Amino acid sequence: MADAAIRTTCPYCGVGCGLIVSPTRDGWAVGGDPDHPANRGRLCSKGATLMDTVTAEDTGPVRLLHPMVDGRRTGWGEAVNAVADRLAAVVAEHGPDAVGFYVSGQLLTEDYYAVNKLAKGFIGTPHVDTNSRLCMASTVAGHKRAFGADVVPGTYEDLELADLVVLVGSNLAWCHPVLAQRLRAARRDRGTKVVVVDPRRTATCDFADLHIALPPGQDVALFNGLLAHLDRVDAIDREYVLRHVSGLDEALAAARADTPPDVEGVELFYHWVATTPKTVTVFSQGVNQSSRGTDKVNAILNVHLATGRVGLPGATPFSVTGQPNAMGGREVGGLANQLAAHMNPDDPHDVDRLRRFWRAPNLTGGQGLKAVELFEAVRAGRIKALWIMATNPAVSLPEGDLVRAALAACPTVIVSDMVTDTDTQRFAHIRLPAAGWGEKDGTVTNSERRISRQRPFRAPAGEAKPDWWIVTQVARAMGFETAFRYRAPVDLFREHAALSAFENDGLRAFDIGGLANLKPRAYDALAPVQWPVPAGTSAGTARLYGDGRYTHANGRGRMIAVRQEAPAERASLRFPLVANTGRYRDQWHTMTRTGLSPRLAAHRPEPLVEMHPEDAAAAGLADGALARVTSRRGEVVMRVAIGEAQRPGEVFLPMHWSDTLSARGSIGRLVPGHVDSVSGQPESKHVPVRVEPL
Ligand code: SF4
Repeated sequence: MADAAIRTTCPYCGVGCGLIVSPTRDGWAVGGDPDHPANRGRLCSKGATLMDTVTAEDTGPVRLLHPMVDGRRTGWGEAVNAVADRLAAVVAEHGPDAVGFYVSGQLLTEDYYAVNKLAKGFIGTPHVDTNSRLCMASTVAGHKRAFGADVVPGTYEDLELADLVVLVGSNLAWCHPVLAQRLRAARRDRGTKVVVVDPRRTATCDFADLHIALPPGQDVALFNGLLAHLDRVDAIDREYVLRHVSGLDEALAAARADTPPDVEGVELFYHWVATTPKTVTVFSQGVNQSSRGTDKVNAILNVHLATGRVGLPGATPFSVTGQPNAMGGREVGGLANQLAAHMNPDDPHDVDRLRRFWRAPNLTGGQGLKAVELFEAVRAGRIKALWIMATNPAVSLPEGDLVRAALAACPTVIVSDMVTDTDTQRFAHIRLPAAGWGEKDGTVTNSERRISRQRPFRAPAGEAKPDWWIVTQVARAMGFETAFRYRAPVDLFREHAALSAFENDGLRAFDIGGLANLKPRAYDALAPVQWPVPAGTSAGTARLYGDGRYTHANGRGRMIAVRQEAPAERASLRFPLVANTGRYRDQWHTMTRTGLSPRLAAHRPEPLVEMHPEDAAAAGLADGALARVTSRRGEVVMRVAIGEAQRPGEVFLPMHWSDTLSARGSIGRLVPGHVDSVSGQPESKHVPVRVEPL
């Protein structure tokens, strides 16, 4: 399809690296885009091996090539009608609330926009949630409480401008490798101090000046202790707080009531933060994936608000997202507690505004079911039809056995995916072949709010189609032709941009009205740009809130009084170890793409339960032995890797393997469905287990 080099974006992590894909005699070659601000030509192992996976897709039975209805190959016309008819029948018999959508941060913004418009605006169900719930929901909630909007105030360059970078619950070296490369270079060139706060000694600790091996779940105590320390040494910026921040007294009172963790390095950490104005705190899933995740986020944000270190060069809190388009999905209302353009489903003005913009009489507002609740509703029979796009919840969600039972019991399961066989697809009544990376055309937004283009360089495999096209066809078949007249992704993008500016008047931070009139050629050539991009502008905005004006109606940032609380489940005599779950450097999610690359598999060919020598000895386990890992929910089988990276009493489990790839290797069956009461994000980082010889 492409006979010249094209610029596009990596489909993996939230760094959002720019790529150049060039035609070769045999296919294509991929390299880092030196002009993309996120990576400036750098790549990690996953990005550099993207063509391995494309080749494997072409040469093996990997792709879903044709629509399938009830196990039978069909054309698109029949498949689209089957989806439309079954959704309409459920709405007619049980009401719109009986329809659910579970989508993905792998979708492009244009795909995501179409899904939300169809589901919330025209079918009239609020039940649209996404795998971003497992990733970023606590940060979204924390940002909204503190700033009044789901906004990351900083830009990647801040990691290079800071004198101190604190990484909390983030194995940046493995999970955001190009950002880690940038930080390492800054440390080498200008002596940036790096602190890692993590129960494990991860690869990121290799370039840290200080590792605080914090026991799991004690982040609030750590940051409350820091806030109280800042007060004691007079490092709170009282003038800034007076002018720009509410809630200091209450937050300080709560902070003083907590006891800082008794862990080596804490006092030095507090001293460094107090004496280093240019401090950036990077936080990620180790903070978010917790039954207290939102409070943890706010404990971090409190420190930055109290010191006025928000949205300034080299001084800001910085959440790094896991997925390539977790932020783009939020922009279009991809969470059950959001509407498009960051509007609030509980605000009648926002609901009315969106209803009028979309001319969508079925839009009712109100919050939908969040991921764990959604699958509980499927299992209970309240959701009768579920459409899953670009994600594999049978492997990735907590309560894996219950999720599988829910899918087995659901009368209509529709799955759109690019690959032909996932644990989730086995439950599908209708399977729709979706175009994949290299075939799709649209935009994604990375962790620094930067919108970048994904451009196609080859034709879709078989009869695969882009997700926005599939949704549009179904919408038309359901009778919503007028609202779904899109012919190309640019049509969706322009509408999305226009909506962001519609009756905005500074109410919402997300505003890309300056991109609402892009002609197709300008959209195609769109250079990476950070939102907001208000009407009349095009350059984007690197930082937000640096002037102390926040999105809350009174313009002030808000400190939240939070207290240290225990995780939802504790270790016990039967389950004496605490399992922490996470990524490997060279795998991505449930391995449907990275699992195709032998080069990537060489890093860690199989899942390993990593444990401290004392715990392994107590359990009678040798390095390399097969072990059964059991929680209160289920069990998995893995080989043991003994090492001192784990603290005694804790083990680490990789999240990637499905039962298809490794018999009983899917750790979702171990993780309980405890969620943060504010964000709905599950607690995947604190799972009591026992490990014993098989
Ligand atoms: Fe892709 Fe992330 Fe690696 Fe960049 S750091 S190449 S976005 S996986």
